[in-house]
Amino acid sequence: MEVETRDRFDIVDVTDEVAKAVPDDFGAGLCTVFVQHTTAGVIVNEHEDRLLSDIEAYLQEVVPQWDDYAHDAIDDNADSHLRTLLLDESVSVPVREGSLALGTWQSILLVECDGPRTRSVSVTWTPSA
Ligand code: ZN
Repeated sequence: MEVETRDRFDIVDVTDEVAKAVPDDFGAGLCTVFVQHTTAGVIVNEHEDRLLSDIEAYLQEVVPQWDDYAHDAIDDNADSHLRTLLLDESVSVPVREGSLALGTWQSILLVECDGPRTRSVSVTWTPSA
């Protein structure tokens, strides 16, 4: 699936789109969400606006936007790559009776570190043995 991001840093809740991608008759298994990029990641966490601001502040504090990264000579986005190191490129969520078995406060969040862009996200599902 494709996800549009709106800013250089952005967090987009993709839980509903992922849930729709899993067939209702799938039964039980594991759904994997994989972000096909090196400057965006995916996490499972709480979708609460103040927390999303805290996540942005945390990533900017750990990886400051700084002009002297070696990779900046190529495309000036080393900070985005380094922030993505602190995220995951994929998450796996159990599926039960065709539905994502997420906890009450868990959402699947795409974290954009070098937007705005259109991001490709692979959603696959594997049945339980
Ligand atoms: Zn780059």
